[in-house]
Amino acid sequence: MNCDIRGMELTKAYKFRIYPDTKRQEEIDESISLAQKLYNKLLEKSINGKISRQTFNKYLHEILLENPEYHALYSQTRQDIRDRLIKTYQNFFRRCKEGKGKKGFPKSKPFDKYKSITYPQDNGSFSIERIKGFNRLRVSRIGTMKIELHRQIEGKIKTLTIAKEGKEYYAIFSVAIKRDEPQKAQDTNPVGIDLGLISFNAMSDGRKVEKPKFFKKEEKRIALWQRRVAKKKKGSNNRKKAKLHLQHEWNKVTRQSEDFAQKLSHDLVSAGYTSFAVEDLRIQNMVKNHHLAQSISNACWGGFLKFLTYKAGENGLPIMKVNPQNTSKTCSNCGNILEMPLSKRMFNCDRCGLQLDRDINASINILNRAMVGQTKSHAWGDSASTMQKAWRAESLNQEHTLQQAEEAHTL
Ligand SMILES: [Zn+2]
Repeated sequence: MNCDIRGMELTKAYKFRIYPDTKRQEEIDESISLAQKLYNKLLEKSINGKISRQTFNKYLHEILLENPEYHALYSQTRQDIRDRLIKTYQNFFRRCKEGKGKKGFPKSKPFDKYKSITYPQDNGSFSIERIKGFNRLRVSRIGTMKIELHRQIEGKIKTLTIAKEGKEYYAIFSVAIKRDEPQKAQDTNPVGIDLGLISFNAMSDGRKVEKPKFFKKEEKRIALWQRRVAKKKKGSNNRKKAKLHLQHEWNKVTRQSEDFAQKLSHDLVSAGYTSFAVEDLRIQNMVKNHHLAQSISNACWGGFLKFLTYKAGENGLPIMKVNPQNTSKTCSNCGNILEMPLSKRMFNCDRCGLQLDRDINASINILNRAMVGQTKSHAWGDSASTMQKAWRAESLNQEHTLQQAEEAHTL
């Protein structure tokens, strides 16, 4: 049994021996032979390499007019032959493009190489029935035959292929199975997370995660190399060298950020929270932040969010993204809005008297917004490759910031 994952669906293939009687064998052999001839006829017509579905449909139509015997093939089986040939051409052109030589131009299929016919859709063209205690396979244009169902078919049958192997006949069903989604936990312990100003982040349960030490260290080194790049003459070798150093420092901070974000997201997902409310960073244009320390922090935060989204998804914990506007300025107790310059570390509400760390206050607002059902986005189905892409994008963002910083210095 073959298995293959496509999106949220699994495709499985089940193969069963079938026992057509002599009459049915002749029907199958005749169909396979017709299918093979039709394949070769289509190939002849398409030798110019025009392979659009439309063109092939035109060819099919012409062939049927000239040779009415092909009507004996089920219409969808004819379409499947067309699709097989299109695929063969596409593979050939792909190989050419990849520079793997011009070998393998689609060839006509001799009878002994063409051994199956496919019914590409379960729309009544075939069925399994139980007759007098036996399982029987009924196939349009061929008839009914015994089938050895040695295993229960799970999922929805999509296609049937009848194949001849030596003197034996087989029915191969391809089946779509819905992939199990992670079990959704009861949301009893949700947490809001704010991108902290002083700390790395602050959480609605009062927890804070400090900024990692390498932030400060790397910030200094990056600033140093930025100054050095700026001092060198444009186009000079020394400038090139300094730029390489600068790039090296950025790479270092990217790697360290990645480690940090991996560990932190792992810790949070295992900490017993049942869902996470975070700021939707797409709303703020974070990359365009000219302040170096903040751009390091933002890049790392973006990476952390993506890891968290991925890991939470794996564990069936929802991530809710909320509009970050005014989360720092709003009182999480009474909704009062205050001006909160960056120098203010505490939120002191002049209406209800709330006194709270500014970032913790913001994280509670983020949680509250998620709870009233703002933009919800669940993380099901994020893949590891999406994560890698996300990290690459993050590094690119840093390159962008690097360029900006450099321009700022050279002006
Ligand atoms: Zn208040």
